[in-house]
Amino acid sequence: MEKRIKLLGRTPEELTAIALSEGLPAFAGKQMASWLYQKKVRTLDEMTNLSKEGRARLSQRYEVGVAPVLACQVSRDGTRKYLFPADCSHRPELHAADTDPNLEHSAIEAVMIPDGERKTLCISSQAGCKMGCRFCMTGRQGFHGHLSAGDIISQVIAVAESDELTNVVFMGMGEPLDNYENVRRALEILTAPWGFGWSPKRITLSTIGVLPNLHRFLEESRCHLAVSLHDPFAEERAGLMPVQKAWPASEVVRLIRQYDFTGQRRVSFEYTMFDGLNDSPRHADAIVRLLRGLECRVNLIRFHKIPDFEYDTASDHRMESFRGQLEKAGLTATIRASRGQDIDAACGMLAGQNRQNQS
Ligand code: SF4
Repeated sequence: MEKRIKLLGRTPEELTAIALSEGLPAFAGKQMASWLYQKKVRTLDEMTNLSKEGRARLSQRYEVGVAPVLACQVSRDGTRKYLFPADCSHRPELHAADTDPNLEHSAIEAVMIPDGERKTLCISSQAGCKMGCRFCMTGRQGFHGHLSAGDIISQVIAVAESDELTNVVFMGMGEPLDNYENVRRALEILTAPWGFGWSPKRITLSTIGVLPNLHRFLEESRCHLAVSLHDPFAEERAGLMPVQKAWPASEVVRLIRQYDFTGQRRVSFEYTMFDGLNDSPRHADAIVRLLRGLECRVNLIRFHKIPDFEYDTASDHRMESFRGQLEKAGLTATIRASRGQDIDAACGMLAGQNRQNQS
């Protein structure tokens, strides 16, 4: 059967053009946007204010495009990890399998993390990743494709907690600024009045610092920013994160300093702590020098050990004294609680397993 084209991920203008091409009135475009992003329907049949004939015509070529949940792991602490089929494409109208045969066995993850009143969904922007960070399971799997805006938004709709979510973070599989056009569009859908209508304060984009697109993101969006730092020393960081050679952390910080983070918009720096690698007072000193005077937060993160990577997580004692040193120097620093440790918690674990099972 011919694959249907997904409506999810399209703007009201694009939906209007589709409506007109299928013989529906122009206002059906706005109606479709409301059904997709506000009422979060799964089928065209649920769009009951479109005529029955109109829906029948649409369904010959189009579908809503919410991905099915392939698997869901639930942690003792309430964290839930969802697995979805990857259906990536540079062009939303093409099915992934048309562009990359590997995608047949690819999957992406979204993780829902409850914390008191908050329910945060961590979503993926790519299947796999090109960036090759050594400590990351997703990086190990290589790159399989960009997610379309519809596939990004589908994660927010498909999880059981969709209507209870308070926050979304782009911290799952992939580097969001390596798929900027689709991510920008997904951010627009999440924040536009015709879309989810969320405040940008509820959304954080996390990046390792893809400089040209970081510049665009800072100009074009009001969402929060998180930067993966992990080591303040250029040579050491390059050993962990190849991106350092193209776009050094010092350049990333220089760019960020040009923007205002003293008001509603926040910037944080993610710092995964590895025992004996980046957890010394010398490292804390270098972070203080790098970030001096910038209104920001440093999140210290425990490392979930992964196979074939020589470092383990830093000890609690080391992390406490590291935080103390940063705070003494005037930086705000927190130690991030580990969540979902009893499930395949490290980013890319569940999808990697799925790939192995399939191949
Ligand atoms: Fe890609 Fe992020 Fe993993 Fe680095 S840490 S390889 S950018 S997914």
